[in-house]
Amino acid sequence: MTSKTGATAGHPPAAGLTNEEILRYSRHLIMPEVGMEGQLKLKGAKVLCIGTGGLGAPLGLYLTAAGVGHLGLLDFDVVDFTNLQRQVTFGTSDVGKPKVQAAQARLSNLNPDVEITTYETKLTSENALEIFKDYDVIVDGTDNFPTRYLINDACILLSRPNVYGSIFRFEGQVTLFGMPDGPCYRCLYPEPPPPGLVPSCAEGGVIGVLPGIVGALQALETIKLIIGRGHSLEGRLILFDALSFKFRELRLRKNHHCPMCGTHRKIHQLIDYNEFCGIRGEEEEPDVALNVPEITARDLKEKLDRGDDVFILDVRDPHEYQICNLHGHLIPLGELPKRVHELDSAREMVVHCKTGKRSAKAVDFLRQAGFKKAYNLHGGILSWSIEVDPKVPRY
Ligand SMILES: [Zn+2]
Repeated sequence: MTSKTGATAGHPPAAGLTNEEILRYSRHLIMPEVGMEGQLKLKGAKVLCIGTGGLGAPLGLYLTAAGVGHLGLLDFDVVDFTNLQRQVTFGTSDVGKPKVQAAQARLSNLNPDVEITTYETKLTSENALEIFKDYDVIVDGTDNFPTRYLINDACILLSRPNVYGSIFRFEGQVTLFGMPDGPCYRCLYPEPPPPGLVPSCAEGGVIGVLPGIVGALQALETIKLIIGRGHSLEGRLILFDALSFKFRELRLRKNHHCPMCGTHRKIHQLIDYNEFCGIRGEEEEPDVALNVPEITARDLKEKLDRGDDVFILDVRDPHEYQICNLHGHLIPLGELPKRVHELDSAREMVVHCKTGKRSAKAVDFLRQAGFKKAYNLHGGILSWSIEVDPKVPRY
């Protein structure tokens, strides 16, 4: 991790542009709304992008292309094969590399004039203020509630604008928090949702183009903020529904009782955000695994090879069954209570889903309904693919 010092919000724009920079940014320079003045403000600006994933991809690419002078990239993750469907900074050869390193290589090639500082770390209450203080604008490209509250609070404590974006399946949100008279994230969402209620993109999926659109809107808002042009998103929450192709705008007001940005601030330092969001351990799943009888994929394979009578129940959704299946009887978890009559409580039954979480709930339900021979397939069909049959695709 490297860090730079000396810059604060509102420092003067850079002194000048080289001939090469004038050529590179000519489409900006010929517009009166940007011009030399705006381009020099961009060159003098320091922007920190939290997350280099789906939202971080267009953010990094467009802010770098636009000539933001100093870009900070923060991410602890490595590039995964499933990222490539939407995280367009990365190529197939980047799989397994730290995201900030792969992003830095791509962005430096796009525009070598941009100074890039990478932070290969998790954002925490311990490091956030130290990292944020060197930047003029913070852009939230994260995907979880503890980090969103952390970014919000750190921005308010340091008086930094927070360009916010979020995505889920076909829906996106964009706004600007942290302006002196505007609302903050806590004004909009005073309480985090119960843990596990809102699925992540890994659990719920996301259409690949959506982070591209939302991240590009955040990049646009960041550039407008730096050059000081147009109407900002302060106090306006933009909701984008890709399926109906509709943009809606909600008015957001500052909550004067807000514990962070209200008249009487109650929070004066960063807190434990995992605890605030009801998440116990760092990696622990919010809904603790149910204690139900289990069977491993290898043991199930042995049983089937022996010719034991085992009934396989698949509690995933039909579109998941189409991706891969173990020829089990399909009853999605939500339909199980009303379709339980389809099952025979006398037979031994192995219940599976993708990873073993939904099927644990199913086994718990079935055991209480009198199915004494119901077992959960530990690790779900993913474990089957890893331990027994790699021809079964993972998703
Ligand atoms: Zn607030």
